[in-house]
Amino acid sequence: MSEKKYSHVMLIGVDGAGGYFKVADTPNFDRIFANGAVTYDALASNPTISAECWGAMILGVGPEVHKLTNENIEDHSYPLDSKFPSVFRRIRENYPDAAIGSFCCWNSINIGLIEDGINVDLGHARDDDMAPKICEYIKEKKPTFLFVQFDTVDGAGHNEGYGSEKYLKRISEIDVLLGNIYAAVEDAGIADDTLFMVIADHGGDGWGHGGWTDTEKYVTFAAAGKDVEKGTIPEMNIRDSAAIVLHALGIDLPEFEEDGWTSQIPDGIWPETDGHYRDISHLTGAEPRISRKQHHSEPV
Ligand SMILES: [Zn+2]
Repeated sequence: MSEKKYSHVMLIGVDGAGGYFKVADTPNFDRIFANGAVTYDALASNPTISAECWGAMILGVGPEVHKLTNENIEDHSYPLDSKFPSVFRRIRENYPDAAIGSFCCWNSINIGLIEDGINVDLGHARDDDMAPKICEYIKEKKPTFLFVQFDTVDGAGHNEGYGSEKYLKRISEIDVLLGNIYAAVEDAGIADDTLFMVIADHGGDGWGHGGWTDTEKYVTFAAAGKDVEKGTIPEMNIRDSAAIVLHALGIDLPEFEEDGWTSQIPDGIWPETDGHYRDISHLTGAEPRISRKQHHSEPV
């Protein structure tokens, strides 16, 4: 293990938000990341579908490697013996007693992207009901790693159109929840020792996603915390969130392999990791496929 940079790392995912944090009214996001590293052009996974994209972020490998789909994660737990462990398992192996949480409106992530038996605290509810539970969890457990997936922005995109007024309003409503969650981090007394991040898995085009248009493939990512550089991240793939999470917790990154771990720390996050980012565009040019199927995110 290298030196741990933060005691707490939080990755808040907003499904289907694409790069629209740039245009929606998001005062909390703007305040939280005013001194942080931000991009609205992080590259999603191809195809721009939830399981492919969240899978890349949580496993640090591309969809051509992890081969997960919305269909095959909904009722199969992620194998404990996979050679591509989730960041949850990697953190657990390094921190046997840490509080690790995952709160997902779209429960397929908790089921199919996280290994059973590694003691992750799982939460599942509709976005607006889940946010207060997340705040309670932060204050009570002060988690080492917390992952969140909000789902209703994607729902608004499917129902009202990506980029529409109602869709942007839903991003603003999620922004209120982000503000509440960040306030809980401050109330817990851990803000100075937390890396706080927001990410989207993909955007949308019209009323769907899965293709490779700019509004589908370019997404929001933002990081705030001590030592994080202020400014724009020049180049990033969403799968890089896995490397950022591990490095922040002092966990050595797996070796880069084109048919395996391809998650890297982008330039513009921390001064000491700048200058090593590889161009992996030859790995990410798969033909798009279109999925207009909406999530089923009713809580059970
Ligand atoms: Zn999605």
